[in-house]
Amino acid sequence: MSRILRACINRSALRSNLDAVRAAAPGARVMAVVKANAYGHGLVATATALAGADALAVARIEEGVLLREAGITLPVVLLEGVFTGPQLAEAAHRDFELVVHDASQIGLLEAFGRGRRFTVWIKIDTGMNRLGFRPEDFPAALARLCALPVPPREIRLLTHLARADERDCPMTGEQVSRLQRVLDALQPHAAFAGAGGRPVVSIGNSAGLLGWPAARGDWVRPGLALYGVSPFPDQVGADLGLMAAMTLETSVIAVRRVPCGETVGYGGTWRAAQDSTIAILAAGYGDGVPRHLPSGAPVLIGGERVALAGRVSMDMIAVDATRLPEVRVGDRAVLWGPTLPVEHVAAQAGTIPYELICGVSQRVPLELR
Ligand SMILES: *Cc1c(COP(=O)(O)O)cnc(C)c1O
Repeated sequence: MSRILRACINRSALRSNLDAVRAAAPGARVMAVVKANAYGHGLVATATALAGADALAVARIEEGVLLREAGITLPVVLLEGVFTGPQLAEAAHRDFELVVHDASQIGLLEAFGRGRRFTVWIKIDTGMNRLGFRPEDFPAALARLCALPVPPREIRLLTHLARADERDCPMTGEQVSRLQRVLDALQPHAAFAGAGGRPVVSIGNSAGLLGWPAARGDWVRPGLALYGVSPFPDQVGADLGLMAAMTLETSVIAVRRVPCGETVGYGGTWRAAQDSTIAILAAGYGDGVPRHLPSGAPVLIGGERVALAGRVSMDMIAVDATRLPEVRVGDRAVLWGPTLPVEHVAAQAGTIPYELICGVSQRVPLELR
């Protein structure tokens, strides 16, 4: 079966991006973030391509279970930890590392009591105000974890940056300073495995590790950069030495002549200013093409840039292919990929590239290259 619409995943791009991350954060270990189906790239295939990472990170325990069921043995970090006793038992069974960000999760560990010694990452909230212990609450959390009936194998610290994608924003430096003050107040402890009895620390996501040398830590946690996409609004992945790993491609399924003055698509929002050639492509919001993409947004047909004409439908879009007199049914088209940066398409749709790549829907087959 030849596929009309598909998301092609370039595994050597994933590997090359991992190398680029290592070069950007020399000496740091890399926790490859593969949550949300590896940002739409396919969880297991991506994790397999990134076997050279030092660990994998997921948001939900179900994602971790899929990795283990596929035979992946790398350390797996649950970025939000667990929320119930059965989840904790599953995490023990699967040998997951746990983020602990809330006192209720320490309560689960206290009640669990048996079995596995977990590697625990205590999350410190240095200003994001989403997950994590505030610095003033951290000592009590640490003391409770150290007093567990089955103490952690190792305790590490992490924090998450809120504004690292803004290159001139002082907040990243402030977050790093807050974390440093927590570290400075710590006594050496047997559960810490860093130099001098200090804990191992993780700070930077993609924007942090690429933009802020002081905001890396012993472990970096890239997601977006591994997929070849820039976290910075004014750059694309290639500017940062990254290779876009996903190409969302489809075909022309109809070509029509639209006389001057007629409209195209729902709502009649696009009107032909001249006799026009409209190509219909098989990809719509049911596949993850954002419906907010406006007329004029770029699409490639046979490598040539054409413009979206009218509203995105569920299964189709129309493009103005008047400048391509030879356009034919079956011609290949690209919605985003190395030759049409997803960063640009996202900007047109008023969103971020994360949402576009994560939003490729389940009915779109992934094709590994
Ligand atoms: C998603 C996530 C990351 C990865 O962020 P990117 O911006 O994609 O690099 C890192 N850390 C945590 C806690 C996350 O939730």
